[in-house]
Amino acid sequence: MNFDVLIIGGGAAGMSCGLILGSALENKVVSNKNIGIIIHQKTSHLNSALLNNVLGVEPGTSGQQILKEGALHLKERYPQVRQIDKEKVREVIQLQKGFQVVTNKNIYKTEIVVMATGYTSPFRIKGFEDKVIPHKKAKASKERIQLENEDHRIKPGLYVAGSLAGWRSQFSIACGSGASVATDILSLWKGAHTKVHDKLL
Ligand SMILES: Cc1cc2nc3c(=O)[nH]c(=O)nc-3n(C[C@H](O)[C@H](O)[C@H](O)COP(=O)(O)OP(=O)(O)OC[C@H]3O[C@@H](n4cnc5c(N)ncnc54)[C@H](O)[C@@H]3O)c2cc1C
Repeated sequence: MNFDVLIIGGGAAGMSCGLILGSALENKVVSNKNIGIIIHQKTSHLNSALLNNVLGVEPGTSGQQILKEGALHLKERYPQVRQIDKEKVREVIQLQKGFQVVTNKNIYKTEIVVMATGYTSPFRIKGFEDKVIPHKKAKASKERIQLENEDHRIKPGLYVAGSLAGWRSQFSIACGSGASVATDILSLWKGAHTKVHDKLL
C-alpha cells in the first residue's frame, strides 16, 4: 500500500494531525492524496490521563474516552484517512524517494512520515539511531526522549509531532503540534501557507 502521508501513532498528536489532513481532503483543499494513520493506542499516555484542564473538553473526561472517540471521530468524519489498526511500527527506512514503514504485520511505502509515538524511553523504532536525544523539556530524572528536529521537521519528508518533538507533555500542546505538522504538509503541497477552516453559512 502506498501513501502520500503515513502518520505513526494514534495518540493526541497523531489523531490531531489526521483530523486536519482529513478535513483538507473533505474540503477539497487538496485532492488525490492517500493519507493513513497507524492508530496504535496501547501505549498512549492518554490511557491513564484524566482531563480537567483542556479547553473544549468536558472536565472529568478520561484519556481513554478521548482515544476511543478520537478514532471514531476521524473514521466517521474523514473516512478518506485510512486507519491501520492492530499494527506496531518496527522500522522506518529511507528510500531514494520516500520511506518504507515496516510494522509487525506489513510494509508500507510513503512519501511523508509523521512520527507521533510519544516521548517514552527507550525508543524502539529502528531508523532513528542518530536522531534520538534527551528530551529538552522534561525532568532529566524521567529519562524522556525526543527526536532532533527543527520546527517539527527531522529531514525532508520526515516530521515529528507531540511530546516526541520535544514539547512538554500537555494534551493541548500535543494536539497543537500534530495540527501544526498537518498544516506544514498542506502548505508544502500547495506551495503557500495553508490552513483548513470550516465556516458557519
Ligand atoms: C497519568 C497522566 C495524566 C495526564 N493528565 C493530563 C492532564 O490532566 N492534562 C493534560 O493536558 N495532559 C495530561 N497528560 C498528558 C497527555 O496525556 C500527553 O501530553 C499526551 O498524551 C501526549 O500526546 P502524544 O501524541 O505526544 O503521545 P501519546 O498520546 O502517548 O501517543 C503516542 C501514540 O503512539 C503509539 N505508539 C507508540 N509506539 C508505537 C509504535 N512502535 N508503532 C505505532 N504506534 C506507536 C502509542 O500507542 C500512542 O497511541 C497526562 C498524562 C499522564 C500519563
